[in-house]
Formats: sequence, structure tokens, C-alpha cells
Amino acid sequence: MTDAFRIVRTPAALTAAIAAWQRAGRRVAFVPTMGALHDGHLALVRLGLQHADACAASIFVNPKQFGPTEDLDRYPRDEAGDVEKLKGAGCTLLYAPSVATMYPPGFASHVRVAGLPDALCGRVRPGHFDGVATVVAKLLAAARADVAVFGEKDWQQLAIIRRMAADLDLGTQIIGCPIVRDADGLALSSRNAYLSADERARALALPRALADARTALLDGLPVAPALAMGLKSLKAAGFARTDYFELVDGATLASLGAVQPGARLMAAAVMGTTRLIDNLAV
Ligand code: AMP
Repeated sequence: MTDAFRIVRTPAALTAAIAAWQRAGRRVAFVPTMGALHDGHLALVRLGLQHADACAASIFVNPKQFGPTEDLDRYPRDEAGDVEKLKGAGCTLLYAPSVATMYPPGFASHVRVAGLPDALCGRVRPGHFDGVATVVAKLLAAARADVAVFGEKDWQQLAIIRRMAADLDLGTQIIGCPIVRDADGLALSSRNAYLSADERARALALPRALADARTALLDGLPVAPALAMGLKSLKAAGFARTDYFELVDGATLASLGAVQPGARLMAAAVMGTTRLIDNLAV
């Protein structure tokens, strides 16, 4: 496409820009992010462009999804670098609102999806998914895109967003993008930038533990010892804490005691001070 790259900073400008594309007969994909973009984010843009003729992204580090002791202040930010990456991937519109634009004085509405946020990450990050649902509802309502793309790395988030978009008739089709990994298997994440070289090397135990547990399950090992094996290898690799290492139903996120179609291994663990998440279909 030959569109010039544009940055808009208000919801009205985002609505107008995307509506103009749609009036010209173009299908539009939307990719919400918190910036510090890597190839995982760019895969979402490319997947969006397989389903649409034009792509908009957003960058907003959403304070409502960070807990009081989490990394809001040190979260990496690089808008100029992100713009170049978006251009390279074929995205031609960026929505980058300020916190004051998203949450002006008097802001009082929150979106809470029942059930799905209670599992996994929701147990250790109270309120996190309410913050996610609230900001994504605002972003999707302003964009009114034909499709929106979210990564399977944040599997629980994707499940919650699918539920919310359907429940609230948001009118945008939600598409999941497979996890993009570094050559050695670590899932790409903006937070990987926090890892020291030594921590980065030891963090590889996370995707390995998932892959080993998957192999063990498919070889017939019962779920409890397969998960125990995973926990043990994370501890041995020096993870300070494992928040969960579980087999769940990929749609309901309910814990499973046996492999079944749609089963997924889910893990979250802390290396140094960096919390990493990953998951794998079984
Ligand atoms: P974030 O900027 O971390 O909020 O992520 C923005 C979007 O990119 C979310 O839908 C994430 O699931 C997705 N994403 C982040 N990392 C990856 C990855 N390694 N592979 C696929 N999608 C990803």
C-alpha cells in the first residue's frame, strides 16, 4: 500500500482514519500493543494484513494493567524505533494516546470479564485482566476495525478478549497469532530486555520444560508427574519462583487431570526480577 505513515493521538482521530479506509472499501486490521516492538508484534501486523488491506497499531503502556509493585515505570518505551518497525511491516497508522487522553479526570468505567481472569495469571496479578479488558474495550470501540490481532503468547488474555468482544458486540473479529520465538526457543517479549545474559541463558529452561512436559504427556506419563518434572527443571534452572505450571483446557482455562483435545500447557515463572510466561499446545 502507498499510504503515508500517520500517527494519531485521540480516539476521534483513530475512528476517523479507520472509517475513511473502510469507506474506500478497505478491510482494516488493528494491532494493540504496549510498544518496545519486536518480531512477535510485527508478526501480528503481518497476520493482520493477511486478513485485511490496511493495518493500524496502537502503543499504550496501560497503567491500569500494572499492579502497584509491577514494572510500569521501567517498562521499555521507544516510539521512534517502533514507528520504523511498524513501517517495515506494512502498518501505516499508529494510535499513541497519552494516559490523560485514555483516562481523563472523572474516568469511572471498567470492564470485567467473569470467570476466565480467575485462573493462572489472574491468581497472582489481581486486577490485571480488568485493566486489560478495559483498555482493549476502549481501543476496539475507538478503532472499529474489521479484525484485531492478539498474540497466543498471552493465551489467557486472548481468551478473555475473545469473550469480551463477543459479549459486548464490539463487531471486530479477534484473531490469534502463534507465538514468535527466538532461534533458541525463548518466546519474544518486551520484558526479555530486563534479563542479564546469564538470566537470558537460564530462561531457556521455560520453553524446554514445556516441551519436555508435552513429550512426557504424549508418551503417556500422567499429568501430575509430568507437571512435577516441569516445576523441578524450572527450579534447577534458577527460576526464583514459578507462579504456575499447569495443563488446562485452552478455551475454558480449567485445570485438566488428563490430556484431551484443546489441552494446553501454561507456565509463568520469575527469572531474577523478570516474570516470564509461555504456553504450548499438547
Ligand atoms: P504487549 O506489547 O506485550 O502488550 O503485546 C502486544 C501484543 O503482542 C499482544 O497481543 C501479545 O500477545 C503479542 N505478543 C507479544 N509477544 C509475542 C510473541 N512472542 N509472539 C506472538 N505474539 C506476541
